[in-house]
Amino acid sequence: MFAPKFDYHKVSSVAEAIQLLSANDGAKFIAGGHSLIPLLKLRLARPTALIDIGGIADLKRITVNSGTVRIGALATHWDIAASHDVERACSMLTQVAGGIGDPQVRNRGTIGGNVVHADPASDWPAVLTALNARFVIQGPGGASRTAAPGDFFLGPLTTNLADNELLTAVEVPSFAANQSSEYAKIAHPASGYAVVGGAVVVTLDGDRCTAASVVVGGLVPAPVKALSVERALTGEILNVENIMAASDQVANDLGGEVIGDFYASAEYRRAMAAVEIRHALFHITGEAHIGSRAVSVLHAVQDVTVESEAIPVFDPSSIADPAPSSQPTESLVSEHQSRKRWWEFWRRS
Ligand SMILES: Cc1cc2nc3c(=O)[nH]c(=O)nc-3n(C[C@H](O)[C@H](O)[C@H](O)COP(=O)(O)OP(=O)(O)OC[C@H]3O[C@@H](n4cnc5c(N)ncnc54)[C@H](O)[C@@H]3O)c2cc1C
Repeated sequence: MFAPKFDYHKVSSVAEAIQLLSANDGAKFIAGGHSLIPLLKLRLARPTALIDIGGIADLKRITVNSGTVRIGALATHWDIAASHDVERACSMLTQVAGGIGDPQVRNRGTIGGNVVHADPASDWPAVLTALNARFVIQGPGGASRTAAPGDFFLGPLTTNLADNELLTAVEVPSFAANQSSEYAKIAHPASGYAVVGGAVVVTLDGDRCTAASVVVGGLVPAPVKALSVERALTGEILNVENIMAASDQVANDLGGEVIGDFYASAEYRRAMAAVEIRHALFHITGEAHIGSRAVSVLHAVQDVTVESEAIPVFDPSSIADPAPSSQPTESLVSEHQSRKRWWEFWRRS
C-alpha cells in the first residue's frame, strides 16, 4: 500500500526540528524510517508532515567521558556496534547493537527511533533499562530534561515524550571492572526481534554476586525489571544451582500482561523468560551454557527436574536426522521435530 500524502521538511538543527514540530499539527519526526515507513504504508500512521531529522550532525555523535557513554539519538545500530570506545566502556551496547535485525536495519535504524517507537519486541528498551540509562530530551525554547527507563517506557508504542519534544541522546554509565553483562534472546527468525529477551548485568566479588540488574523484554508491554530474580541473585555465589533457582523467580515479576501471538503463545513466552535469564547468566559465568539451555528448555516446558551436577555439555553432532525408515513411528518423528526447535534457539543467540 502507498503511504498517505504528507508534507516533507528536512532540518539541520534541533531547534529548527522542534520549532517545525510545534508549528505543524499532526507532524512527526523521521530518522532512519525503519519503524515509521512500515506504519505509513500500512496506514497505521497518518502524519500531516514528516520532519526529517536525519541530517542533524550533532545527534549522530557518540562520546565516552568520565564514566558515561553518550549516544546521540541518530547513531545507528551499526555506529554503536562498530565503536571501540563503546566496546571498552560498556560491551553490552556493542553486543546488542550487532545482534539487531540485519545489516540494512543496523545501517539505517537509529537508537533514538528504536526507543521512541517503543516496540515491546525491540532489544534496546530491555537492555537500556538493565543498564540504568538516562534518556535526554529537548523541548521548545531549549528546555531539556532527562528520564529514567521506568518513566520513559509506558507501554506498547508509547513513551512519555511529549508531542513537541525530541530525544537528543541516550546516556549509559560505563561498566566498572567487576561488572559483567549478557543479553540473551529468542529471536524471531524473520526479523531478529525479541520473542523473549533477558538482559542481565551483575557486579561480582569473585564468584559472588553483590548486585544484579535483570530485565525482560519481548513478552511484556514495556520492559519489566525482574526484582525477584535480582534479590535471589544478590549475595549468592553464581553457581548452576543458584542461577536455576533465581531465574525461576521471574514468574513473580511478569504480571498478567504477557503477550501471545500467532508466533509464540503467552504461556510459552512466560516459560522462556526464566530460560533466557539463566542463559545470559550461564554466558557470564562460563558454564556449559549451550547444554544448560537445552536442559532449561526441558525444565521449563516439561517440568523435568534438573540435577545441577547432571547438566550435560551439548554436542551438536548428537542431532542426527532420524534413520530412514519405510514406516517411521510417530514418537520418532515428534522427538526429531522438538530437537530441531531447540537447535534453532542455540543458533540464534
Ligand atoms: C526487518 C526489521 C528487523 C528489525 N529487527 C530488530 C531487532 O532485531 N531488534 C530491535 O531492537 N529492533 C529491530 N528492528 C527495529 C529497528 O531497530 C527500528 O525500526 C529502528 O531502530 C528505528 O529507528 P529509525 O531511525 O528507523 O526510526 P524511524 O522509523 O525514523 O522513527 C521511529 C519513530 O520514532 C520517532 N523518532 C525517531 N527519532 C526520534 C527522535 N530523535 N526524537 C523523537 N522522536 C523520534 C519517529 O517520529 C517515529 O515515531 C527491526 C526493524 C526492521 C524493519
